[in-house]
Amino acid sequence: MKHNFGAGPCILPQEVFQQAAAAVIDFNGLSILEVSHRHKDFVAVMDEAIALVKEALNVPKGYSVAFLQGGASLGFTIVALNLMRDKKKAGYINTGTWASAAIKEAKKVGVDVNVFASSEDKNFTYLPKNYTVPTDVDYIHFTSNNTIFGTQFKEFPKTDLPLCCDMSSDIFSRVINVADFDIIYAGAQKNLGPAGATLYIVKDEILGKSSSPFMPTYLDLKQQIEKESMLNTPPVFSVFVSMLNLRNLIANGGVSEMEKRNSAKAKLLYDEIDSNPSFKGAVEVEDRSNMNITFLLTDESRASEFDQMWKAAGIVGLPGHRSVGGYRASIYNALPIESVQVLVNTMKEFSQK
Ligand SMILES: *Cc1c(COP(=O)(O)O)cnc(C)c1O
Repeated sequence: MKHNFGAGPCILPQEVFQQAAAAVIDFNGLSILEVSHRHKDFVAVMDEAIALVKEALNVPKGYSVAFLQGGASLGFTIVALNLMRDKKKAGYINTGTWASAAIKEAKKVGVDVNVFASSEDKNFTYLPKNYTVPTDVDYIHFTSNNTIFGTQFKEFPKTDLPLCCDMSSDIFSRVINVADFDIIYAGAQKNLGPAGATLYIVKDEILGKSSSPFMPTYLDLKQQIEKESMLNTPPVFSVFVSMLNLRNLIANGGVSEMEKRNSAKAKLLYDEIDSNPSFKGAVEVEDRSNMNITFLLTDESRASEFDQMWKAAGIVGLPGHRSVGGYRASIYNALPIESVQVLVNTMKEFSQK
C-alpha cells in the first residue's frame, strides 16, 4: 500500500474505491459506465450527489448545485461570463498560478480585471493583507487555497459585491459559510472525487443577469441549473464516485470532523518541518495551507538521498510543483494521519543520518 501525497487527482477512501469498482461491474444489472444518464437510477445518483453537497456544506436556501465538465479551468471562463454586469469590471486577488489563470481567462471574455491584491512580488510565498476591496466592479474573485505554493486564506475578503471563489483544493476540508459567497466552484479531483466533474454552488439571485454579448449554452449557469446538470451527458462516473465519497464523508462526521483531522495532520507535519534542522517551510508561517504543505531541504545537495528514503518508505507524489521545487505533501481528507507519520519518521531518520 502506497502513501499518496499527490496534489490531484486525489486519494479517496479505500471503501469508496471498492464501491466504485463494484459498480463498474454491476450497477443494478448494468455497469455504471454504460448506464444512460437519463435512466432513473442515474438521475437518483445526481439528485443524491447534489443533496449531499448541500448537507455537507450546510448550503442555505436560495442556492443551487451543479456538476459540470471542463474542470476548474473552464470555471474561470464560466464565472466571468455569468458574473459580468454593466461595468464589465472585476476585482481579483492574485495569489498563485491558478489565480493568475483565472485573471487571464476573465480578460479573454472581456472583463476589465483590477488585481487589487497580489503576492507575485515574492513568488506567491505569502498572502496579501490590508488590501482595499474595490467597489466599482461587478464582482470579486479569489482562490481559497493555493495548491501549488501552499498558502491558504484563513479569512475571506469582505465585500457587498458578489463574491466568487475557486475552492478546488480545499472544499470539504473545513467548515465554510456558503452564504458569504455567490459562486463557489471546484474541480472534483482535489478533494471530492475522480477527475471529470466540476462542482458549482451558485446563489440563484445571480443567474441570468450577465452582460456578456455572447453566452454559449453550456457555459450559462442558469440553463445548466434549470436542466439539473443534464443539459448534455454529465460526467456520470465522476459524479457517481463523488456521491460515494460524500456519503463516506458524512458517515465519518462530516466537514467539521475532516477539519479537525486535517488540522491534526498539518500540525504533525509542520511541527516536524519547524523542529528538524534539515527542513524549512516554503511560505510565510501564518499563511500556511492545511491541504498542500510545501517545504524545502536546508541542504539541497542531499535531495537525491532524501528522495530515495521517502520512496523506499512507500511514499508517492511528494515532489513540489515544477514552478516551486522542493516538496509538497498534499494531505487531502482521505489521507490518514498514519501516512503523515510515515513521512515524519522518514524526515527524522534523514536528519539523523
Ligand atoms: C487544480 C486546480 C485548478 C485547475 O483544475 P482543473 O480542474 O484541472 O482545471 C484550478 N484551481 C485550483 C485552486 C486548483 O488546485
